[in-house]
Amino acid sequence: MSSLRQQVLLEIAARNPIAYEENGQAPPDFGVNVFNESVMREKLPKDIYEKLQDTIRNGVKLDLKIANAVAHAMKEWAINRGCTHFTHWFQPQTGLTAEKHDAFLELDEGQVIERFRGEQLVQGEPDASSFPSGGMRTTFEARGYTMWDPSSPAYIMEGPNGGILCIPSVFISYNGEALDKKTPLLRSMEAINRAATRVIELFGHEQINRIVTNIGTEQEYFLVDKAFYSMRSDLRITGRSLVGAEPPKGQQLEDHYFGSIKPRVLAFMQDAERVLYKLGVPAKTRHNEVAPHQYEIAPIYAEANLGADRNHLIMEILKKVADRHGLALLLHEKPFAGVNGSGKHNNWSMEDMNGNNLLDPGNTPEENLQFLIFLAAIIRSVHLYGDLLRASVASAGNDHRLGANEAPPAIMSVFLGERLSRILSDIKNDRHTQVADDFIIDLGISKMPSIMRDNTDRNRTSPFAFTGNKFEFRAVGSSASVSLPNTVLSAGVADSLDYLVSEIKVEQERGSELNKAIFKVLKTVITESDKVLFEGNNYSPEWEEEAEKRGLPNIKRTAYALDALVAEKNVSMFSRQKVFSSEELQARYHTKLEQYITTLEIEAETLVDIIRTKVIPAAVDYENKLCKAISGLENILSREAAKTELTLLEEVSKTKQNLFEALQSLSAELEQAKSIEDIADKAKYFADHIVDWLEKARRPADVLENLIEDAVWPLPKYSEMLFIM
Ligand code: ADP
Ligand code: MG
Repeated sequence: MSSLRQQVLLEIAARNPIAYEENGQAPPDFGVNVFNESVMREKLPKDIYEKLQDTIRNGVKLDLKIANAVAHAMKEWAINRGCTHFTHWFQPQTGLTAEKHDAFLELDEGQVIERFRGEQLVQGEPDASSFPSGGMRTTFEARGYTMWDPSSPAYIMEGPNGGILCIPSVFISYNGEALDKKTPLLRSMEAINRAATRVIELFGHEQINRIVTNIGTEQEYFLVDKAFYSMRSDLRITGRSLVGAEPPKGQQLEDHYFGSIKPRVLAFMQDAERVLYKLGVPAKTRHNEVAPHQYEIAPIYAEANLGADRNHLIMEILKKVADRHGLALLLHEKPFAGVNGSGKHNNWSMEDMNGNNLLDPGNTPEENLQFLIFLAAIIRSVHLYGDLLRASVASAGNDHRLGANEAPPAIMSVFLGERLSRILSDIKNDRHTQVADDFIIDLGISKMPSIMRDNTDRNRTSPFAFTGNKFEFRAVGSSASVSLPNTVLSAGVADSLDYLVSEIKVEQERGSELNKAIFKVLKTVITESDKVLFEGNNYSPEWEEEAEKRGLPNIKRTAYALDALVAEKNVSMFSRQKVFSSEELQARYHTKLEQYITTLEIEAETLVDIIRTKVIPAAVDYENKLCKAISGLENILSREAAKTELTLLEEVSKTKQNLFEALQSLSAELEQAKSIEDIADKAKYFADHIVDWLEKARRPADVLENLIEDAVWPLPKYSEMLFIM
């Protein structure tokens, strides 16, 4: 007799790749679903187009007359492309994105007409009460508004029965407080623009008047067959498997990373990329990742705001398209215990209006000096605000990566590579950098060597690595929005740039020439901050010890990591940089604590349910079967003849007993945790008790999985979900 699970296995093994819905292999027109610059130029009167570009490029306020004209053109364009509705698309503090659809319909003397007014484009009012605000709006008017962010273009999300015009928006309160993740990100980009311009002005390049922050996100994910997914309430409800025995080690050695992409997965990837292309998302790289059925997709980088919006789109589209291919997308940071988890490498850099990357060391001594100022500011900011970086990526899911022995650790450190490290150490120690044959060319000015680009020196274990002309922040979770991490990163760096520029100016006022002033300040900053520099293996226990000696924080659990959001030094930095007010930070602190608690609560309840309604009944079934066999054997042959069955029965019964006891402890702890009033205390209780009990309670269940007859086991196993497709 085969179980439902076993039947499903056979069905899955017989599935085939699904070709594009529409025939034709030709790549779709890139960006056809985007109201982009060329569409604007074509559809808008010239003066309106130019004013709108001014808004997009320079943030000039959009007046209603122009908004009306833009709205009209946008509506015509969208309706022509099959849209019936529009929505303001925004990033609430919880979840990823939100939308509320409105039809382009209005009644005019009883007649239905299609209309989309300027006010509707520029401003919307979602039912704000349904979006958590961390208590912020209770003190103000309970209203929130979404407002078009013209720096991110409107686009059409195709639906099965017509498209939706999506208008990327910020979400703010009546008083202008940020209720979302996008507003602070935009503010942090402005902070970088302002502070980085000051650095460039030191060198007298006053014509540079706009600096942008760029990001490129490498998105990791898992795919499992939808049938497996449907049979596992833990995957459906919590995004990760709460029970499941690890597969035999041999299977993990399967050469997945370098292997070719399976046809069914390739079909999915091609399909998803096609949809993304239409949305103007330049998906460039696709490959297998280390774990079985783990993959990565990376677009070409873009301005941070756009890059963040696109990452949201990537996650959304992958999910939808996977579904069409009979697959379930798992964005969770740790869907399978004991198997590599998923992250999102966030590549970050700054660029001037002429397209010069400010993190590119450059070719002249002056460019090198400027580069070193940026570098020192970044190092200083990781040193001073490493706790904030940790908080910005904190979630119950990501704790399974950062808090465990997996990449990267919760200790925030910077990897620079051998050459740069040496240059910094020479500056610190007043050493003249040696003219080393192959990698440093001394240009003979001050003590300043020319820094050659160095793309080869890689350290895969560092949470924050310099990779030639950008920094790669690798601690971001795969399911997270990149908005907050980039907001924190940019705000901290802007603050340090301000600090460095001010210090350099003080030195100049004391009579130092520019080069000398810069070196003096660099030396001080490097000396104060270089304990965050680490070139070794970040996963090793030695680094944990070393980091502790250096006084670097190593906060493993979210409930504790989040405290940094409201620490006084951080509140002042954010308010200096005009990125977050103290109230806005409190709101995020609250919302994130709440999310953490809710996640763990749901996980605990789901685990209890699975164990009670699936695992224990399976054990009882098997026990019954063994009991019958034992009495049969005893009656017909002898007790001795039932020896094997008796041993098995004892093992199963004992493990089941352990499981039940663990379950009771978990339930008791959960009741205790739920009764705590203060939200920060409550989160910490969850961190200190529930997290461990979730682990302890699954262990006997995982042992049972390997003891019980395969046909009786109700849940798809790791060895199946990760290897059959
Ligand atoms: P990796 O070797 O880590 O995969 P890649 O060079 O392939 O690195 O780049 C990964 C991501 O970094 C891509 O999204 C890419 O567009 C982005 N990226 C490249 N250059 C920059 C830059 N200057 N600023 C921000 N992101 C960048
Ligand atoms: Mg990378």
